[in-house]
Amino acid sequence: MGRIVVLDGYTENPGDLSWKELEKLGDLKVYDRTPADKIIERIGDAQYVYTNKTPISKDTIAACTNLKFICVLATGYNIVDVNYAKEKGIKVANIPTYGTTAVAQFVFALLLEICHHVGHHSDAVHEGRWSSNIDWCFWDFPLIELAGKTMGIYGFGRIGQNTAKIANAYGMNVIAFDEYPNDAGREIAEYVTLDELFAKSDVISLHVPLFPSTQGIINKENIAKMKDGVFIINTSRGPLTNEEDMFLALKNGKVGYYAADVVSTEPIKDANVLLGAPNCILTPHIAWAPKESRQRLMDIAVENLHQYQVGNPVNIVNK
Ligand code: NAD
Repeated sequence: MGRIVVLDGYTENPGDLSWKELEKLGDLKVYDRTPADKIIERIGDAQYVYTNKTPISKDTIAACTNLKFICVLATGYNIVDVNYAKEKGIKVANIPTYGTTAVAQFVFALLLEICHHVGHHSDAVHEGRWSSNIDWCFWDFPLIELAGKTMGIYGFGRIGQNTAKIANAYGMNVIAFDEYPNDAGREIAEYVTLDELFAKSDVISLHVPLFPSTQGIINKENIAKMKDGVFIINTSRGPLTNEEDMFLALKNGKVGYYAADVVSTEPIKDANVLLGAPNCILTPHIAWAPKESRQRLMDIAVENLHQYQVGNPVNIVNK
């Protein structure tokens, strides 16, 4: 069967899931996290390795000569030197999709926070501000209705289209930009050019992947094309946004709110300009992480190794 090592299993399974199914496929050792200087030692003579964000470099692959199969516990696999792995005959698998509905739901968690500030108002009530209030109700922020507003979805793939379905249910008009429009997308939104999307949207939700061509695309030139007070939601990747430009746009009110689950460097740096920025909601990259999504990820991760062991590898990214 062979040895299986999970280098950094904690974020996938902080204790509410089970590694039992993986245990059936080999002699399993799970580490919560692995520092850079322990990667080679911990893989040792294992044949199968799981990693989430721990890098598997050329040097590691060269040193761990028994390695046959690497599975990334995520969709993005840039932390593995996949080309060198291929040269060495090592298959690298990923988890192509597991969190589509969770991320789309999280877009609305962020957007509804902007619209209603539920947490703030609940705290205010618990602090006694309602019981001592002169009127029968109060609110501290403008309350916003979504029906009739336009949501522009940039990157209309799995998560973008799921987000559109929810936006439609709220009575929003949905417009979208994608390099590759498709029929499923046409049924739930109107495709427009990127400049039209910037100009017409009350809310812009980013779902385009991070590529050199999309890095920094939310910058001062493009923000200038947007409506005054636009809301921008980023659950895709932090570097899509030029954070310095965003800070200035939040400060002068051009952008009404920036709500992001992702930032340029993660975990966020103390010096990140968005920390403390006005009208800026930041969450620590949690959109993917409901238990249901992580269970789905676990099931696919186990299946990836099982299929490899029976000679029918699936989800291989370095064919
Ligand atoms: P997907 O591949 O299904 O969709 C991406 C879409 O973007 C595709 O339709 C593609 O045609 C389009 N696209 C690619 N390049 C483009 C460009 N230059 N201009 C316009 N459109 C372009 O991916 P998905 O499953 O919807 O995921 C979208 C992103 O969400 C991922 O890339 C990832 O960065 C992010 N994500 C974040 C979390 C989280 O926890 N916050 C979790 C999962 C995924």
